[in-house]
Amino acid sequence: MRSLRVNTILILGGGSAGFLAATTLKKRVPELSVTVIRSKEIGIIGVGEGTTPILPRHLLGYLKFDPGEFHRETRPTWKLGIRFLWGRRQYFDFTFGVQLAWKWNNLPKPNGFYCDQEFEDTDVFSALMSHDRAFVRQPNGDPLIERNFGHHLENEKFVNYLEGQAERLGVRILDATVAEATRDDQGIAGLRLTSGEMMRADLYVDCSGFRSVLLAQTLGEPFLSFKSTLFCDRAVAVGWDRTDEPIKPYTTAETMDCGWCWQIEHEHRINRGYVYASDFISDDEAEREFRAKNPRVGSTRVVKFPPGRYRDSWVKNVVAVGNASGFVEPLEATSLVLIAYESRLLAEVLADCDGEPSPTMVSYFNGEVGRSWDCIRRFLAIHYRFNSRLDTPFWRACRADVELAGAEPLVEYYQENGPSLLARNALIDARDPFGFEAYLVLLVGQQVPYRRVYVPSLQERRIWESIRAENRLQAMRGLTIPEALAAIHAPAWTWYPGFYHFDK
Ligand SMILES: Cc1cc2nc3c(=O)[nH]c(=O)nc-3n(C[C@H](O)[C@H](O)[C@H](O)COP(=O)(O)OP(=O)(O)OC[C@H]3O[C@@H](n4cnc5c(N)ncnc54)[C@H](O)[C@@H]3O)c2cc1C
Repeated sequence: MRSLRVNTILILGGGSAGFLAATTLKKRVPELSVTVIRSKEIGIIGVGEGTTPILPRHLLGYLKFDPGEFHRETRPTWKLGIRFLWGRRQYFDFTFGVQLAWKWNNLPKPNGFYCDQEFEDTDVFSALMSHDRAFVRQPNGDPLIERNFGHHLENEKFVNYLEGQAERLGVRILDATVAEATRDDQGIAGLRLTSGEMMRADLYVDCSGFRSVLLAQTLGEPFLSFKSTLFCDRAVAVGWDRTDEPIKPYTTAETMDCGWCWQIEHEHRINRGYVYASDFISDDEAEREFRAKNPRVGSTRVVKFPPGRYRDSWVKNVVAVGNASGFVEPLEATSLVLIAYESRLLAEVLADCDGEPSPTMVSYFNGEVGRSWDCIRRFLAIHYRFNSRLDTPFWRACRADVELAGAEPLVEYYQENGPSLLARNALIDARDPFGFEAYLVLLVGQQVPYRRVYVPSLQERRIWESIRAENRLQAMRGLTIPEALAAIHAPAWTWYPGFYHFDK
């Protein structure tokens, strides 16, 4: 294969992956010629609505998009974390703050040792979630908008917004369907459109969704299945228009007989979906179970997905981004953030090597992307292996058979030592996107038993309760989502200069 010199890029696909890749590449390396080809007949998947804080950081920090315009055009709500109806507790909250990887100076043990009975109001974000508030109130009444939130975004609005940004940056957008990709020793020689026209570029970015037209269908890259960890492979997705339901500042993940159900909170809509394992339940039975819990849902649609990733995302002159490179279910809302990461990594590689990526750069890219997918798999394994809420065949199988896929040492440490922080750096790679905090929340939240039980003294309990009470107090004075939306859409509101522009 000749060495690659990248001046022109063709992106196949105009979903969130295609347009996130296009905007990121064009913003970081403006001299690149970038074209997006997308088929209106095939359309976009239309799901993918929960994010972590990494997505707003990417959009507003790395890409430096205007926050006011982003909010006006996509009308997102804020997501402080995920409420898990999971394990033996009625619920527990996973926040984007720090609840458990922390020790107060006036307490002898880290926070996790005080959460055996109640695990709520542990940080200010979990207190905000408990009180349906989005932000702490500043002295002038405004919401204090910091960095510990993700968003709920309506997929189509988000894709339209990204398309507008891409056009503005000079990305060419072509409505056309690719009939065939031809091959040569470089990988892809060209894309033949149904019109007969042939499109060529130096690099092809495959954002064609689950079809993975270039990476899988044309180059035949092997798929590494995550099925031994993630048994679910289907979802029914639907929603309804909001009437008087309060807008919750979090995603809800509720245990179901053969999987789990999400609830995503938009300003005027609530979206629900049931992720299930087709080995344990039929589509009709899943639909019935889902509908019995959610009588307001309209007509549903089934989405099938394969859990896993392609061995390499960058093969020859093809780089896959988004569902074309792999997929894990949205339990921790990781797809959009991984798309942002993949796009950014590609842009940084091309910038660093002045458009001539060396084989070691390509290996670096593949190593980083593969590691990210595997980290997500490992973290999700904890959710399935220890959820003792229901005694159905599906959950019994999860508790018995889910492969921990690398999380074994961390679990063993926890089962011996409880929520101790001492070995955190040895147990989790510093580049793991979740970190020790996230694992602790899932283990403590699900009340996974550990051997060295600690009984706090009365004095410790009092101190702990006063910390929680302070968090509650701050939260109760906070703003609800409608109040915060009214504040940021008011004519007087200004995003302070440099909002989010801390990110390189
Ligand atoms: C049930 C479910 C729930 C999810 N929830 C979340 C969530 O909460 N958070 C999250 O981050 N992610 C979630 N995801 C993942 C979500 O799918 C992705 O985040 C995201 O939308 C990626 O889409 P994409 O751009 O890769 O693919 P798509 O949206 O499928 O886009 C594919 C594009 O390729 C084009 N295309 C394909 N073939 C051709 C061709 N031959 N010629 C021309 N164009 C072509 C299509 O027209 C389209 O434009 C969820 C996924 C599922 C299945």
